[in-house]
Amino acid sequence: MPSVSSTTTFQLNTKAQIPAVGLGTWQSGPGEVKNAVYHALKVGYRHIDCAYVYGNETEVGQGLEQAFKEGIVKREDIFITTKLWCTFHRRPEENLNESLKRLGLDYVDLYLMHWPCPMNANGNDPMFPKLPDGSRDLDKSWSHIQTWKLLEKLLETGKTKAIGVSNYSVKFLEELLSQVSVVPAANQIENHPYLPQQDVLDYCAAKGIVVTAYSPLGSTGCPLFEEEGVHKVAAKHNVSPGTVLISYQVNRGVVVIPKSVTPSRIEQNYNIISLDDEDLAALASISKTKGVTRYIKPSFGVNFGWPDVQ
Ligand code: NDP
Repeated sequence: MPSVSSTTTFQLNTKAQIPAVGLGTWQSGPGEVKNAVYHALKVGYRHIDCAYVYGNETEVGQGLEQAFKEGIVKREDIFITTKLWCTFHRRPEENLNESLKRLGLDYVDLYLMHWPCPMNANGNDPMFPKLPDGSRDLDKSWSHIQTWKLLEKLLETGKTKAIGVSNYSVKFLEELLSQVSVVPAANQIENHPYLPQQDVLDYCAAKGIVVTAYSPLGSTGCPLFEEEGVHKVAAKHNVSPGTVLISYQVNRGVVVIPKSVTPSRIEQNYNIISLDDEDLAALASISKTKGVTRYIKPSFGVNFGWPDVQ
Protein backbone atom coordinates (compact mmCIF):
# COMPACT_ATOMS: atom_id res chain seq x y z
CA MET A 1 0.00 0.00 0.00
CA PRO A 2 1.47 3.42 -0.92
CA SER A 3 1.81 5.99 1.86
CA VAL A 4 -1.37 7.85 2.77
CA SER A 5 -2.19 11.36 3.95
CA SER A 6 -5.18 13.55 4.76
CA THR A 7 -5.50 14.45 1.09
CA THR A 8 -5.52 10.86 -0.21
CA THR A 9 -8.39 10.16 -2.61
CA PHE A 10 -9.74 6.95 -4.15
CA GLN A 11 -11.22 6.63 -7.62
CA LEU A 12 -14.86 5.66 -8.04
CA ASN A 13 -16.09 3.62 -10.99
CA THR A 14 -17.42 6.92 -12.42
CA LYS A 15 -13.78 8.14 -12.53
CA ALA A 16 -14.54 10.78 -9.87
CA GLN A 17 -12.22 10.98 -6.87
CA ILE A 18 -13.62 10.50 -3.37
CA PRO A 19 -11.56 12.02 -0.53
CA ALA A 20 -10.47 9.17 1.76
CA VAL A 21 -11.30 11.01 5.00
CA GLY A 22 -14.70 12.63 5.39
CA LEU A 23 -16.72 14.08 8.26
CA GLY A 24 -19.64 12.01 9.58
CA THR A 25 -22.75 13.93 10.69
CA TRP A 26 -25.02 11.36 12.38
CA GLN A 27 -26.10 12.41 15.90
CA SER A 28 -24.65 15.86 15.27
CA GLY A 29 -27.21 18.18 16.81
CA PRO A 30 -28.66 21.03 14.79
CA GLY A 31 -26.96 23.55 17.07
CA GLU A 32 -23.50 22.04 16.55
CA VAL A 33 -23.31 20.55 13.07
CA LYS A 34 -23.15 23.87 11.17
CA ASN A 35 -19.96 24.75 13.01
CA ALA A 36 -18.59 21.19 12.71
CA VAL A 37 -18.98 21.25 8.92
CA TYR A 38 -17.57 24.76 8.64
CA HIS A 39 -14.63 23.91 10.89
CA ALA A 40 -13.91 20.67 9.03
CA LEU A 41 -13.76 22.47 5.69
CA LYS A 42 -11.57 25.17 7.20
CA VAL A 43 -9.00 22.64 8.42
CA GLY A 44 -8.92 20.76 5.13
CA TYR A 45 -11.73 18.19 4.93
CA ARG A 46 -13.27 17.99 1.46
CA HIS A 47 -15.85 15.26 2.07
CA ILE A 48 -19.00 15.42 4.21
CA ASP A 49 -21.23 12.41 4.83
CA CYS A 50 -24.91 13.22 5.33
CA ALA A 51 -28.30 11.50 5.34
CA TYR A 52 -31.89 12.64 5.13
CA VAL A 53 -32.76 10.61 8.24
CA TYR A 54 -30.14 12.44 10.36
CA GLY A 55 -32.56 15.39 10.32
CA ASN A 56 -29.76 17.96 10.19
CA GLU A 57 -29.15 18.56 6.48
CA THR A 58 -30.38 22.16 6.76
CA GLU A 59 -27.67 22.95 9.32
CA VAL A 60 -25.06 21.01 7.33
CA GLY A 61 -26.06 23.23 4.40
CA GLN A 62 -25.56 26.33 6.55
CA GLY A 63 -22.02 25.21 7.34
CA LEU A 64 -21.36 24.66 3.63
CA GLU A 65 -22.84 28.07 2.79
CA GLN A 66 -20.60 29.83 5.28
CA ALA A 67 -17.52 28.10 3.85
CA PHE A 68 -18.58 29.02 0.30
CA LYS A 69 -19.22 32.65 1.29
CA GLU A 70 -15.83 32.99 2.95
CA GLY A 71 -14.10 31.47 -0.09
CA ILE A 72 -12.75 28.50 1.93
CA VAL A 73 -14.01 26.06 -0.70
CA LYS A 74 -15.98 26.10 -3.92
CA ARG A 75 -18.75 23.58 -4.56
CA GLU A 76 -16.62 21.66 -7.06
CA ASP A 77 -13.83 21.27 -4.47
CA ILE A 78 -15.92 19.18 -2.09
CA PHE A 79 -17.55 15.77 -2.10
CA ILE A 80 -21.02 15.49 -0.58
CA THR A 81 -22.75 12.20 0.09
CA THR A 82 -26.33 11.85 1.23
CA LYS A 83 -28.71 8.91 1.54
CA LEU A 84 -32.14 7.73 0.51
CA TRP A 85 -34.25 6.90 3.54
CA CYS A 86 -36.16 3.60 3.80
CA THR A 87 -39.66 5.14 3.59
CA PHE A 88 -38.75 6.72 0.22
CA HIS A 89 -37.66 3.60 -1.70
CA ARG A 90 -40.54 4.04 -4.15
CA ARG A 91 -39.86 7.80 -4.42
CA PRO A 92 -36.09 8.40 -4.50
CA GLU A 93 -36.24 11.60 -6.57
CA GLU A 94 -38.63 13.18 -4.06
CA ASN A 95 -36.26 12.29 -1.22
CA LEU A 96 -33.19 13.55 -3.07
CA ASN A 97 -34.96 16.81 -4.00
CA GLU A 98 -35.74 17.38 -0.31
CA SER A 99 -32.12 16.65 0.69
CA LEU A 100 -30.82 19.05 -1.99
CA LYS A 101 -33.20 21.76 -0.79
CA ARG A 102 -32.07 21.32 2.80
CA LEU A 103 -28.38 21.20 1.88
CA GLY A 104 -28.75 24.22 -0.42
CA LEU A 105 -27.11 22.32 -3.30
CA ASP A 106 -27.96 21.57 -6.95
CA TYR A 107 -26.39 18.11 -6.82
CA VAL A 108 -24.66 15.66 -4.53
CA ASP A 109 -21.57 13.69 -5.47
CA LEU A 110 -22.89 10.38 -4.20
CA TYR A 111 -26.40 9.20 -3.35
CA LEU A 112 -26.59 6.00 -1.32
CA MET A 113 -29.46 3.65 -0.61
CA HIS A 114 -29.16 3.90 3.19
CA TRP A 115 -30.45 0.36 3.91
CA PRO A 116 -31.77 -2.28 1.49
CA CYS A 117 -35.00 -2.27 3.52
CA PRO A 118 -38.03 -0.55 2.00
CA MET A 119 -40.52 0.64 4.63
CA ASN A 120 -44.11 1.83 4.28
CA ALA A 121 -44.64 5.52 4.94
CA ASN A 122 -47.70 4.75 7.05
CA GLY A 123 -48.06 8.06 8.84
CA ASN A 124 -47.60 6.96 12.46
CA ASP A 125 -43.90 7.82 12.22
CA PRO A 126 -42.51 9.13 8.90
CA MET A 127 -38.99 7.81 9.59
CA PHE A 128 -39.49 4.60 11.58
CA PRO A 129 -43.07 3.44 10.91
CA LYS A 130 -44.36 0.60 13.04
CA LEU A 131 -47.18 -1.90 12.79
CA PRO A 132 -49.69 -2.14 15.67
CA ASP A 133 -47.67 -5.04 17.16
CA GLY A 134 -44.62 -2.75 17.44
CA SER A 135 -42.60 -4.33 14.64
CA ARG A 136 -41.25 -2.27 11.72
CA ASP A 137 -43.72 -1.57 8.92
CA LEU A 138 -41.65 -3.07 6.10
CA ASP A 139 -42.76 -2.66 2.48
CA LYS A 140 -42.55 -6.32 1.55
CA SER A 141 -44.02 -5.82 -1.91
CA TRP A 142 -41.02 -3.72 -3.01
CA SER A 143 -37.42 -4.84 -3.34
CA HIS A 144 -34.07 -3.11 -3.14
CA ILE A 145 -33.54 -4.10 -6.79
CA GLN A 146 -36.56 -2.01 -7.82
CA THR A 147 -35.21 0.87 -5.74
CA TRP A 148 -31.83 0.59 -7.42
CA LYS A 149 -33.41 0.79 -10.88
CA LEU A 150 -35.01 4.10 -9.84
CA LEU A 151 -31.64 5.31 -8.56
CA GLU A 152 -30.11 4.44 -11.93
CA LYS A 153 -32.64 6.81 -13.52
CA LEU A 154 -31.66 9.54 -11.06
CA LEU A 155 -28.19 9.61 -12.60
CA GLU A 156 -29.75 11.02 -15.78
CA THR A 157 -31.09 14.05 -13.88
CA GLY A 158 -27.62 15.22 -12.85
CA LYS A 159 -28.88 15.65 -9.27
CA THR A 160 -26.35 13.06 -8.20
CA LYS A 161 -23.02 12.30 -9.87
CA ALA A 162 -22.86 8.73 -8.61
CA ILE A 163 -25.06 6.17 -6.87
CA GLY A 164 -24.16 3.60 -4.29
CA VAL A 165 -25.42 1.41 -1.48
CA SER A 166 -24.98 1.13 2.24
CA ASN A 167 -25.21 -1.76 4.69
CA TYR A 168 -24.87 -4.31 1.89
CA SER A 169 -23.52 -7.76 2.69
CA VAL A 170 -22.00 -9.95 -0.05
CA LYS A 171 -25.36 -11.72 -0.37
CA PHE A 172 -27.20 -8.46 -1.10
CA LEU A 173 -24.46 -7.27 -3.47
CA GLU A 174 -24.59 -10.53 -5.44
CA GLU A 175 -28.36 -10.31 -5.71
CA LEU A 176 -28.15 -6.70 -6.86
CA LEU A 177 -25.35 -7.10 -9.39
CA SER A 178 -27.04 -10.05 -11.03
CA GLN A 179 -30.07 -7.93 -11.92
CA VAL A 180 -28.98 -4.35 -12.63
CA SER A 181 -26.85 -2.46 -15.12
CA VAL A 182 -25.08 0.20 -13.03
CA VAL A 183 -22.55 -1.19 -10.54
CA PRO A 184 -22.70 0.78 -7.25
CA ALA A 185 -19.85 3.27 -6.94
CA ALA A 186 -19.61 2.67 -3.20
CA ASN A 187 -20.83 0.50 -0.33
CA GLN A 188 -20.87 2.22 3.06
CA ILE A 189 -20.66 -0.28 5.92
CA GLU A 190 -19.78 -0.42 9.60
CA ASN A 191 -16.07 -1.12 9.84
CA HIS A 192 -13.39 -1.21 12.55
CA PRO A 193 -11.07 -3.87 14.01
CA TYR A 194 -13.96 -5.62 15.78
CA LEU A 195 -15.85 -5.83 12.46
CA PRO A 196 -13.31 -5.92 9.60
CA GLN A 197 -15.79 -7.42 7.10
CA GLN A 198 -12.94 -8.63 4.89
CA ASP A 199 -15.38 -10.69 2.79
CA VAL A 200 -17.27 -7.55 1.80
CA LEU A 201 -14.02 -5.66 1.13
CA ASP A 202 -12.73 -8.46 -1.11
CA TYR A 203 -16.00 -8.72 -3.02
CA CYS A 204 -16.17 -4.95 -3.52
CA ALA A 205 -12.53 -4.80 -4.66
CA ALA A 206 -13.23 -7.48 -7.26
CA LYS A 207 -16.22 -5.48 -8.58
CA GLY A 208 -14.57 -2.04 -8.45
CA ILE A 209 -16.83 -0.80 -5.63
CA VAL A 210 -15.21 1.59 -3.15
CA VAL A 211 -15.94 0.74 0.49
CA THR A 212 -16.58 3.47 3.06
CA ALA A 213 -16.18 2.63 6.76
CA TYR A 214 -18.76 4.07 9.11
CA SER A 215 -18.49 4.07 12.92
CA PRO A 216 -14.69 3.63 12.60
CA LEU A 217 -14.24 4.39 16.32
CA GLY A 218 -17.05 2.04 17.34
CA SER A 219 -19.63 4.88 17.31
CA THR A 220 -20.88 6.64 20.45
CA GLY A 221 -18.40 6.38 23.31
CA CYS A 222 -15.58 5.14 21.04
CA PRO A 223 -15.33 1.61 22.54
CA LEU A 224 -12.39 0.76 20.27
CA PHE A 225 -10.31 3.34 22.18
CA GLU A 226 -10.05 0.77 24.98
CA GLU A 227 -8.72 -2.02 22.76
CA GLU A 228 -5.22 -3.14 23.72
CA GLY A 229 -4.28 -4.11 20.16
CA VAL A 230 -5.09 -0.59 18.99
CA HIS A 231 -3.08 0.89 21.90
CA LYS A 232 -0.01 -1.10 20.87
CA VAL A 233 -0.02 0.32 17.35
CA ALA A 234 -0.75 3.82 18.72
CA ALA A 235 2.20 3.60 21.13
CA LYS A 236 4.53 2.43 18.35
CA HIS A 237 3.70 5.51 16.26
CA ASN A 238 3.19 7.88 19.20
CA VAL A 239 -0.34 8.77 18.06
CA SER A 240 -3.80 8.43 19.61
CA PRO A 241 -5.99 5.31 19.25
CA GLY A 242 -8.36 7.41 17.13
CA THR A 243 -5.60 8.19 14.65
CA VAL A 244 -4.80 4.47 14.36
CA LEU A 245 -8.46 3.51 13.81
CA ILE A 246 -9.00 6.15 11.13
CA SER A 247 -5.63 5.52 9.46
CA TYR A 248 -6.28 1.75 9.48
CA GLN A 249 -9.12 2.18 7.01
CA VAL A 250 -7.33 4.43 4.53
CA ASN A 251 -4.26 2.18 4.65
CA ARG A 252 -6.40 -0.77 3.58
CA GLY A 253 -7.96 1.23 0.72
CA VAL A 254 -11.17 2.14 2.53
CA VAL A 255 -12.77 5.60 2.78
CA VAL A 256 -13.50 6.60 6.40
CA ILE A 257 -15.98 9.10 7.86
CA PRO A 258 -15.37 9.71 11.59
CA LYS A 259 -17.99 11.89 13.23
CA SER A 260 -17.19 14.66 15.65
CA VAL A 261 -18.68 18.01 16.58
CA THR A 262 -15.64 18.89 18.70
CA PRO A 263 -13.22 21.18 16.81
CA SER A 264 -10.02 19.69 18.31
CA ARG A 265 -11.19 16.13 17.50
CA ILE A 266 -12.24 17.13 13.99
CA GLU A 267 -8.68 18.34 13.44
CA GLN A 268 -7.07 15.32 15.07
CA ASN A 269 -9.17 12.86 13.06
CA TYR A 270 -8.05 14.43 9.79
CA ASN A 271 -4.35 13.83 10.46
CA ILE A 272 -3.89 10.23 9.41
CA ILE A 273 -0.63 8.31 9.21
CA SER A 274 0.84 5.53 7.06
CA LEU A 275 0.83 2.13 8.76
CA ASP A 276 3.10 -0.76 7.84
CA ASP A 277 2.22 -4.37 7.05
CA GLU A 278 2.95 -5.42 10.63
CA ASP A 279 0.47 -2.82 11.99
CA LEU A 280 -2.22 -3.84 9.50
CA ALA A 281 -1.75 -7.51 10.35
CA ALA A 282 -1.95 -6.73 14.08
CA LEU A 283 -5.18 -4.73 13.63
CA ALA A 284 -6.66 -7.40 11.35
CA SER A 285 -5.94 -10.09 13.95
CA ILE A 286 -7.90 -8.36 16.76
CA SER A 287 -11.31 -9.75 15.80
CA LYS A 288 -9.81 -13.22 15.45
CA THR A 289 -8.97 -13.32 19.15
CA LYS A 290 -11.59 -10.92 20.58
CA GLY A 291 -14.47 -11.90 18.30
CA VAL A 292 -16.71 -9.75 16.15
CA THR A 293 -18.83 -6.89 17.51
CA ARG A 294 -21.36 -4.92 15.51
CA TYR A 295 -22.48 -1.66 17.11
CA ILE A 296 -25.10 -0.50 14.59
CA LYS A 297 -27.85 -3.10 14.48
CA PRO A 298 -31.30 -1.67 13.88
CA SER A 299 -34.13 -4.12 13.69
CA PHE A 300 -35.40 -3.80 10.15
CA GLY A 301 -36.63 -7.37 9.93
CA VAL A 302 -34.13 -8.22 7.23
CA ASN A 303 -31.84 -11.11 7.94
CA PHE A 304 -28.33 -9.68 7.83
CA GLY A 305 -27.14 -12.26 10.31
CA TRP A 306 -27.10 -9.92 13.28
CA PRO A 307 -29.22 -10.24 16.39
CA ASP A 308 -32.55 -8.48 16.61
CA VAL A 309 -32.02 -5.78 19.21
CA GLN A 310 -35.50 -4.39 19.61
P1 NDP B 1 -17.74 7.21 15.06
O1 NDP B 1 -17.09 5.88 15.15
O2 NDP B 1 -17.27 8.18 14.05
O3 NDP B 1 -17.68 7.85 16.53
C1 NDP B 1 -18.30 9.06 16.84
C2 NDP B 1 -18.12 9.33 18.33
O4 NDP B 1 -16.75 9.46 18.62
C3 NDP B 1 -18.76 10.63 18.77
O5 NDP B 1 -19.32 10.39 20.04
C4 NDP B 1 -17.60 11.61 18.86
O6 NDP B 1 -17.83 12.58 19.85
C5 NDP B 1 -16.47 10.69 19.25
N1 NDP B 1 -15.15 11.11 18.76
C6 NDP B 1 -14.84 11.40 17.47
N2 NDP B 1 -13.52 11.68 17.36
C7 NDP B 1 -12.99 11.56 18.60
C8 NDP B 1 -11.69 11.73 19.12
N3 NDP B 1 -10.67 12.08 18.32
N4 NDP B 1 -11.49 11.53 20.45
C9 NDP B 1 -12.52 11.15 21.25
N5 NDP B 1 -13.78 10.99 20.82
C10 NDP B 1 -14.02 11.19 19.49
O7 NDP B 1 -19.30 6.93 14.94
P2 NDP B 1 -20.53 7.19 13.99
O8 NDP B 1 -21.46 6.09 14.29
O9 NDP B 1 -21.00 8.57 14.09
O10 NDP B 1 -19.98 6.93 12.51
C11 NDP B 1 -19.40 7.93 11.71
C12 NDP B 1 -20.33 8.39 10.60
O11 NDP B 1 -20.67 7.31 9.74
C13 NDP B 1 -21.70 8.89 11.05
O12 NDP B 1 -21.65 10.15 11.66
C14 NDP B 1 -22.46 8.85 9.75
O13 NDP B 1 -22.11 9.93 8.92
C15 NDP B 1 -21.97 7.52 9.18
N6 NDP B 1 -22.84 6.39 9.54
C16 NDP B 1 -23.52 5.75 8.53
C17 NDP B 1 -24.37 4.70 8.80
C18 NDP B 1 -25.08 4.02 7.68
O14 NDP B 1 -26.02 3.26 7.95
N7 NDP B 1 -24.68 4.24 6.45
C19 NDP B 1 -24.59 4.21 10.18
C20 NDP B 1 -23.78 4.89 11.17
C21 NDP B 1 -22.94 5.92 10.84
P3 NDP B 1 -18.02 14.18 19.60
O15 NDP B 1 -18.85 14.35 18.36
O16 NDP B 1 -18.72 14.61 20.84
O17 NDP B 1 -16.64 14.75 19.46
